[in-house]
Amino acid sequence: MSFATGLLCRECGSTYPTEARYSCDFCFGPLEVAYDLEAAKGVVTRESIESGPNSMWRYAALLPDPGEEPVDLGAGWTPLRRATRLAEVLGVKELWLKDDTRNPTGSFKDRVVSCALSSARRLGFTTAACASTGNLATSVAAHAAFIGWPSVTIIPSDLEKSKIAMTAIFGGTVLGVEGNYDDVNRLCVELVAEHPDWAFANVNLRPYYAEGSKTLAYEITEQLGWKLPDQVVVPVASGSQLTKVAKGFKEFIELGLVEGTAPILFGAQASGCSPVATAFAEGAEVITPQRPNTIARSLAIGNPADGPYVLDELRSHGGDIGSVPDSEILECIELLAKTEGVFAETAGGVTIASLRQMIKRGTIDPNKSIVAIISGHGLKTLDAVVDTAVVTATIKPSLAAAEEAIARYTLEAAR
Ligand SMILES: *Cc1c(COP(=O)(O)O)cnc(C)c1O
Ligand SMILES: [Zn+2]
Repeated sequence: MSFATGLLCRECGSTYPTEARYSCDFCFGPLEVAYDLEAAKGVVTRESIESGPNSMWRYAALLPDPGEEPVDLGAGWTPLRRATRLAEVLGVKELWLKDDTRNPTGSFKDRVVSCALSSARRLGFTTAACASTGNLATSVAAHAAFIGWPSVTIIPSDLEKSKIAMTAIFGGTVLGVEGNYDDVNRLCVELVAEHPDWAFANVNLRPYYAEGSKTLAYEITEQLGWKLPDQVVVPVASGSQLTKVAKGFKEFIELGLVEGTAPILFGAQASGCSPVATAFAEGAEVITPQRPNTIARSLAIGNPADGPYVLDELRSHGGDIGSVPDSEILECIELLAKTEGVFAETAGGVTIASLRQMIKRGTIDPNKSIVAIISGHGLKTLDAVVDTAVVTATIKPSLAAAEEAIARYTLEAAR
């Protein structure tokens, strides 16, 4: 049973039922799902959660009502790993990786899509759609295939080949737009008006979509043995994930499921698309849109919808946000792989490089615990590494040639 009570305007506080609505009638502000946490207290317990399924739906009580059953491909309940070797390189005491590469379609987007399409089905929609930088399209197409819905996913036409293939394979309509994500998003807002029966996960279903990200905070807390981490590093595209991770920690504290204070959140962006990091560094109230130019395509949103809320969260709790060049993104994809055996997409490189940057400038405390969210799998952005991650040597099929190469390169690597 869900303790969701309705939708709440984030600007003026107006309330609405949990219906198909995403902006406020009075002020056009964005809406978010509200819960009766008083009623949930004592009902939603550690035991009730622990007896739930090994997916994000173990937190169903704190998510929007999915109707008869959730659209569940198995998103969430991904591993939280202690990263001792990477911690040593970075000079920090306690580092954890939230490994969201392990979701059904290889990115954290499965959490938000599972949530959005469950609500969409309950509300009577019949077609799944989205505006996407790649990973969302893949996840929407997969979840739609899973429930037998048509899907229309809209992406920039020049995305990584692997992301296009991973979306098209599920059989929906994939529209490649000659433009960047902000063009795609503008087009989708127009399409929503023309197709009121289409559920655009991140447009007209956005209040429901966003709630899925809270499960990252819930899982991190539960997997640490019902303890809060001190600091969490979150990649930022539209900023939805970061603001909802913050909401998740606050709800767990309010419910008395965990003691202590909420962790300080830290953002991560690529310098080729860093509208939030730039506004933060300049102390600006408003975010100036940017034209993205980075290999971190999944984070390439030049005009982030939740950017102002990210600034509020970072500023009110002593957070910070990194901005890292493509060269460091590639270097940190490799560093993560070599030290921890985790292959992340470019967004993961952004997270680790930003973590390193904020340790260096002293905003992240190396003596307090840190969780880094690794939000997408490296196979999604193979293009970024195929030229550098290559065979060590090409040899003749003979024992002598193999032994010679092994002696030469393995000893070299060990030195
Ligand atoms: C979408 C995405 C994010 C964060 O997106 P928000 O729009 O800020 O919620 C982070 N990492 C990856 C890999 C993504 O696809
Ligand atoms: Zn309002």
